[in-house]
This record gives sequence, structure tokens and C-alpha cells, in this order.
Amino acid sequence: MDRRSFLTLLAGGAVMTKTEVSLSATPIMPVLFLGHGSPMNALADNAFSKTLNHLGKSLPRPKAILMVSAHWMTEGTWVTHMQRPRTIHDFYGFPKELFDVHYPAAGSPKLAEEIHQKIKNPKIQLDDKGWGLDHGTWSVLKHLYPIADIPVVQLSLDLKEPPSYHFELGEKLRFLRKENVLIIGSGNIVHNLGKLNWNDKASAHPWAIEFDTWVKEKLEKKDFSALQNDGLKTEAGRISVPTPEHYYPLLYILGAATKEDKLKFEFEEIQNASISMRSFSLGC
Ligand code: ZN
Repeated sequence: MDRRSFLTLLAGGAVMTKTEVSLSATPIMPVLFLGHGSPMNALADNAFSKTLNHLGKSLPRPKAILMVSAHWMTEGTWVTHMQRPRTIHDFYGFPKELFDVHYPAAGSPKLAEEIHQKIKNPKIQLDDKGWGLDHGTWSVLKHLYPIADIPVVQLSLDLKEPPSYHFELGEKLRFLRKENVLIIGSGNIVHNLGKLNWNDKASAHPWAIEFDTWVKEKLEKKDFSALQNDGLKTEAGRISVPTPEHYYPLLYILGAATKEDKLKFEFEEIQNASISMRSFSLGC
């Protein structure tokens, strides 16, 4: 038997060339969904911040980050295109210490242009000066990559569009995983500010636990259809997701994932009774 036939036998009939072998060994970046909760988490040194810190060290190092944050809502879909995105303090009533936080990561106009060029439908517009990095982005990246040495671009949310739009756009962005780009959705599965309890020891509302558990189970079953379409069918879902902006980043991550990706819950906690910090990765 010559070498080629031997390789054919090993490969179960298909001849594996050297190129194919190396391609199949190319690691594909995982995708992340991170709960961000209160902007004060940016300053915290707690189990959540430690989890992110550890995660940043254990993930394969990305060449850039594409962040879908709950806090950039636009008409149409935009991607930040500046060399140096500013740190946006998009909140009020918090201590000065939080307004002093800056996350000096570079942007990546090249990545923004690639997204703009490769995805034809929907048209993704380049944002040169409107936005930057909002707290949905920097409050988690500050713990994940404290040195801010990985370029970051943000993608906006068009809330006029239905859940399927966000999921399908996630699918179209999936190619970036092969290019060593880390796609992160930053939101919260349960996010009801009207039902917050500022007592740190307050127990979670039953409806928050119910919906958070429902999402957890659907994730475990990889039932991405239910996660797009059935969330608001229960009262628990409607109270947990009174507005969609903190939920939709999840749909991008599901779209960018494949059924083969392994699910790992990185963190789970309900903060202030009505905010789920559930965070997970999907990857090989
Ligand atoms: Zn938020």
C-alpha cells in the first residue's frame, strides 16, 4: 500500500491532503454571552469579575473583538469604524470613580470594513464618530481583558427588527470566528430595572428564576428556535424581558454558534432580585 492509500484508509475513504489536515486543525474562536448588570460591576472585585478575569486568560487570544452591546440602539445596523473609540459613560447617578473609568482599546476599521463589505443584507453602515465603547462593552472587557490590548468594534441593535433578524445576522457574522475574532453579546437574560431590589441580600423574584431556568434549559437543548420565538409566551418571560435590548445580544451569539459547539455556563447569579448575570460560552 502506498502512502496515499494508507492516508485514504485512515481518513475513512477520503484522501486528506496536507492542507485539509491543517485546516481542520485551525481552532475556531468560541462565542460568548455575558451578563453585565449594573455598571458598578466594572469596579467590582467579586465572583463575577474573577470569572471574567479567568476566562480572558483561558480563551484563545483573539485578534479582535466584535461586541454586541445592549446599549447601542440605532435605526439600521451600524458598526464602529474609528481608530480610537471613545469610552462612553452612558448612565447617570453613579459615583465619580465610575465616570473616571476609561477603556483605551483600539478600534479596528479594517474589521468594520470587512463586516460592511461581506454582509450585503442587511446593509451594515460604518460609524465614524457617533458611538464608541459603551458600558455594556467596557464594564465586562475591563475584567476580561484588563490591559485593553485587543482591538474592539461594536455592532448596534436595530430594535425595530424582529428576533429572527438578530439571529440571522449572528449567522452571517459566524465567519469571523474562523478569522480569530471573538464575538461577544453583552446584555442580560433577565433585566427588569423596575423590579430591582437594592438590598444585596435580596432573593431573586420567582419569575426571574423561572425565566432564567427556562433559558438555561433551552440552551442545554440547543433549542435556538424557542429562544427566539417563545420567550414572551409566559408571564415570567414578559416580566423578565420588559424591553428587548438586553435580550437581543443573546440571539447574535446563538446565530453565530453551531449545534456542534459545546455549551459552558461560565457564571450564574441573579443580582438585585431582577437581573440575571448568567454568562456562557459556546465553542469547540
Ligand atoms: Zn445594561
